[in-house]
Amino acid sequence: MEYISTRGKVEPIGFIDAILMGLADDGGLLVPKHIPQLSADTLQKWQKLSYSELALEIFSLYVNNEIPRNELKQLVDDSYATFRDEAVTPVKRLNDSTYVLELFHGPTFAFKDIALQFLGNLYSYVSRKTNSIIHILGATSGDTGASAIEGVRGKEGIRICILHPHGKVSKVQELQMTTVDDANVLNLSVEGTFDDCQRIIKELFADVEFKHRYHLRAINSINIARILAQTVYYFYAYFQLANNNQAEKVNFSVPTGNFGDIFAGYLAQKMGLPIHKLILATNENNILERFVQDGIYQPGAFRGTHSPSMDIQVASNFERYLFYLYGEDAQAVSAIMDQFKAEGRVVIPADKLQAVQADFAAYGVQNDECLDTISEYYEKYAYLLDPHTACGVAAADKLAVDGEVTVALSTAHPAKFDESIRLRSIEQTYPQQIQALFNKPQFQTVVGGTNDEIKDQLVKFF
Ligand SMILES: *Cc1c(COP(=O)(O)O)cnc(C)c1O
Repeated sequence: MEYISTRGKVEPIGFIDAILMGLADDGGLLVPKHIPQLSADTLQKWQKLSYSELALEIFSLYVNNEIPRNELKQLVDDSYATFRDEAVTPVKRLNDSTYVLELFHGPTFAFKDIALQFLGNLYSYVSRKTNSIIHILGATSGDTGASAIEGVRGKEGIRICILHPHGKVSKVQELQMTTVDDANVLNLSVEGTFDDCQRIIKELFADVEFKHRYHLRAINSINIARILAQTVYYFYAYFQLANNNQAEKVNFSVPTGNFGDIFAGYLAQKMGLPIHKLILATNENNILERFVQDGIYQPGAFRGTHSPSMDIQVASNFERYLFYLYGEDAQAVSAIMDQFKAEGRVVIPADKLQAVQADFAAYGVQNDECLDTISEYYEKYAYLLDPHTACGVAAADKLAVDGEVTVALSTAHPAKFDESIRLRSIEQTYPQQIQALFNKPQFQTVVGGTNDEIKDQLVKFF
């Protein structure tokens, strides 16, 4: 499989080069040159596979022969052996029409572990094979950083620096990142918002000279490996329902921030998984909801919410979707992104809006509604939703149609967002792994939000 840029100015490259490049050198995002098409036969055969077996089959399609199958299998097995649930991503039934896909059984209790355990092992593999040091640079609104650090801490040949917005991540998220004392980990706590952190990262990666001098590698969801890893659970969840004859019309409701997770669902659908509807759930930062409703993509004012991992105005993976919306026309995508940069908004024509609405339904969840949903499901079904998952469930309820089944992706364990859950006087007991964090010392450096300050820190660390 080869990978190309959404802006069309990068020669096609292989899988490992695509992982290492992260953001494409022309400022675009990498996508597979062709999306593999699965036959009904193949889907049938995959239905009984375990999570790791399924992951191996899917990755094989995208990796081709660049990693021998036995080595790829080892990477996959190692990545999912760290999960606390045998099914890796179990599906739980809440009521006749609503299921949750629990994606939080990895080391940091958030769904990002699914991709980042794999990516960490992949980087380590590449470092060994090429005998080179890998410098990872990433921005996080909370969960990515913890997962990324957990994916590579203590691994030889890898150094990682993570930027997070100072004081704007939950206590547990902060502790998960900053209590790690491995020498190959640097936490920078940036005075600013997550969008500031993300912009700095984007600009440092766009500084090709700096990027190449330090062999900078990306870990945020612009990395295509993360998207690929996340397609797996859409298949797996669908098959779990199919095995129980619950697969008539299956929707997925996805708590969305950077559009990575839902793009993985879109990709799974394009590969041939018969997903009925993809429901895009946002919080009050609802730029993507407005895009699906009105065809206008325009950042609004930043809102702090109960679901900070979705407090995002500019969704870094959105360009990948635009590429397919515009029939894989890289020139059209480049023009749109140029326009977005110049004018701060994009308006798509009516025929494109129709196509968007065929691909997605969308709903933005208000802060109170999010907490109401947590209370409601706790009382009615004795199931505690975290605030991100609650957005997905609220959107599923809002857009549910009789006779359809909706799987809401549960992207985090509720213990990670206790501050919000307490607002509804719900008491929870922390898992022992999280409780233990409160007694550990923290390691982080607070910095201002300019590119130069960050660069200085990086130069010292690398
Ligand atoms: C990252 C994250 C999201 C958003 O996922 P995207 O791929 O950025 O859309 C939702 N919920 C939680 C808990 C997350 O960590």
